[in-house]
Formats: sequence, structure tokens, C-alpha cells
Amino acid sequence: MTLSRFSIGVGDRFAHQAKAQLEACILAQQVGVEVIPVWNKSNREHTIIGSEPSSTRAAADAAVKALGWSKPYFCDADHINLTTVDRFLAPCDFFTIDVADHIGKPADPASIDTFVGEHPELIGTISFERVEQKIEITPELLRATAAKFLFAVQEAGKIYRRIEVAKGKGSFIPEISMDETDAAQTPAELIIILSAIADEQIPIQTIAPKFSGRFNKGVDYVGDVAQFSSEMALDMAAIRYAVEHYGLPSNLKLSVHSGSDKFSIYFAIYESMNKFSTGVHLKTAGTTWLEEIIGLAEAGGDGLSLAKEIYAQAHDHSAELCAPYATVIDIDPARLPTPTTVSGWTSDQFTSALRHDQSSPAYNPSFRQLLHVGFKIAAKIGRRYLGLLEANEAVIAKNVTENLYARHIAPVFLGH
Ligand SMILES: [Zn+2]
Repeated sequence: MTLSRFSIGVGDRFAHQAKAQLEACILAQQVGVEVIPVWNKSNREHTIIGSEPSSTRAAADAAVKALGWSKPYFCDADHINLTTVDRFLAPCDFFTIDVADHIGKPADPASIDTFVGEHPELIGTISFERVEQKIEITPELLRATAAKFLFAVQEAGKIYRRIEVAKGKGSFIPEISMDETDAAQTPAELIIILSAIADEQIPIQTIAPKFSGRFNKGVDYVGDVAQFSSEMALDMAAIRYAVEHYGLPSNLKLSVHSGSDKFSIYFAIYESMNKFSTGVHLKTAGTTWLEEIIGLAEAGGDGLSLAKEIYAQAHDHSAELCAPYATVIDIDPARLPTPTTVSGWTSDQFTSALRHDQSSPAYNPSFRQLLHVGFKIAAKIGRRYLGLLEANEAVIAKNVTENLYARHIAPVFLGH
């Protein structure tokens, strides 16, 4: 089972938008670019919503059948570990093995010695084709990186083998993620980590490092775009080097856990992919849920009322809703409109505050981020929410497809 050059991770919190999401990949195919859909949903999301991974699989299968999609598609057990992987084993065929919590835990000193002893080739200057910057690895850096990451890689090996025993070798796509941690990994660290992953015999096809800058949920990148570009170029070069030197799968590529809507770095990703003739897995999350709210608000009537009700409740419960996402949101409370104000809004006022159009003066990133983490409110409303999604399917689907295609797929994979 092989992941193609271009793939997009889509989140579908309430399992109602798989068809609208797949339509976006079909639009890409119509202009000659294959973008493979991967439906991702983390254990955290399933727990907050009260859903099972099998529901994501059922929705994906149904969408693929309804639209006659003949290319591959996957269901991603997003950010799993040894304690959460089990219920994902049957329905998923893509596993994001999250070992961020194990970074910095000390590996057995003997295994660090062995690793350092077996990798003298990493010490020195590594230069790459098509990249000006070089990577310098000193003996001290090699040892320090092993001390910081080897335990996490060993843990990834345990999780990988648990999945392999259950599903069979080669019958799923393994990814390792290290993005949910404090410090970005440098390209030098990435090369060392990849060599350890190869030693651990984990045939990863995607790797999700943490990049510098902030990747807040549902809003644009905050950071130095030029620095991000050069870091990404070196990461891509490091991946190619690791494929050539350590026998990792030849389609190994970066997975960018974007938190959705990182518009200001999308062109840099497109350019780097072209420069290195490589691909990317662009993981989005939550952007579709916000399009559901936009669609409901646009529909007016009961839909608009429910959108306002969800905002009012999210506003009342903001501390509780924001807590699990504290490190990946930046909400300015002074910029949050009161529920009373919002209750008087028209469809247009609501959608232009929420829709991620940075050229619109009404766009309000604090409002958007609060609703981004507010999906628990819709989950609690339950049947009434789902009923309105179904009643307003056409207007919601249009927003979901257009958002995914025009704001994500086109800039990253088509360059416009
Ligand atoms: Zn992630």
C-alpha cells in the first residue's frame, strides 16, 4: 500500500461531509492533478464527539461509492499511541504514530552508545543538491539528538509492530508525528531521527516534524515565512538523503499538520515540492466543521439560529472548550462579540466574520478560533444539529467543497 505524491488529510467531525470533501479531489483530478484523500480523526476528537473510528470509515466508503472515485483513499488513525490504537486497527489503513510525549525521555544508555557507534557517517558536513545550506553534525550533536529522540523512536517501533501484527506488513501507511511538542526539530535532528527510524525498521511513508512558527487552529501561519521555506527545503533534502542512505520507502514525504488554513506558507510548500520533485501530505482539521457552520448561517432561518446558539454556548463555555487546545489557539477575548450582539446578526454578518477571507474587514480570527474548538457544543446538541446539516446539505456542501479546493488544494498542489 503506497501513498501517492500529493495527498490531503481531511477532517469530518460529524461524518456528514465526506462526499463534499471528495468532490474537491475530483475537481483537482479534472485539471489533471491526483490528490489522494485521507480522512483523519484523532482519538481526542472521537472522545469529545462520542464517535467511533468505524463511522469515519463508513462515511468515506459511502462517499467513494457514491461518486465513483477509483483512486486510492485512506482512513487515518490520527495521533494514536499504544493505549489508544486498538479501536482504530480494523477501520483504519493509515496510522499517525504520535510519539511527541516521549521526546526527551532517556533511552537505555547502551542503546544510545550502539546508535552513535553505528552511525559515524552522520558526523561532519552533509550537503545536498539544489540547496545552499548545509547540515553540520558534530559528535556531540549526534549523541545529544540520540539522547533526546531515541526513546521516542523505540516507542514508535513498539506501536508500529502492534499495528503490523494486527493488520499485516504492507497493508497500511505508517506515519510518525512529532509535531505536538514545544520545540521545532532542526533538519539535522530530522536526519538523525530518520536514521534511527530506519534502524528500528519502521517503513514510514510520511513524517510530521514540528516546524518553527505557530500553527494555530483554523487560522493563518504566524511566523517568519522565509525561515519556514528554508527549513522546509532542508527537511525535504534531509528526507531524500535518508531515503537514499537508509533504505526508507522511496515515497517518504513530509506530512504538514497544518491545523488548517496556513495560507501564507502554501505557496512555499508548492515551490519546495517542485524544486525537489517531491510531494507532501497536507493534513487539515476543523476547516470543514467551520464550513458546516458557515453553510448553516448562510441558509438563514433555523440554520442561522442554530449557528448563533452554538456561538453563544461556546462563548459561555470558552474556558472549558479552549483548555485542550491551549497551545494551538490565540484568542483575543476583547475581539469576541457578545452573544447578544451576534444574536442580531444577519447571515452575511455571521458568515463574513467566520469565513477565512483575510481581505474582508469583517473577518474575525478570534471568533473563528472559538468556534473551531466549539464542536463539542454541536456534538451535545446532537440530532438537532445533524438534522439541520441534512436539511441544508446543498448549501453546506458547496462551502465545504469550495473551501477545500480553492483555499487548500489549489494553492498547495496547483500553485494558485
Ligand atoms: Zn498533528
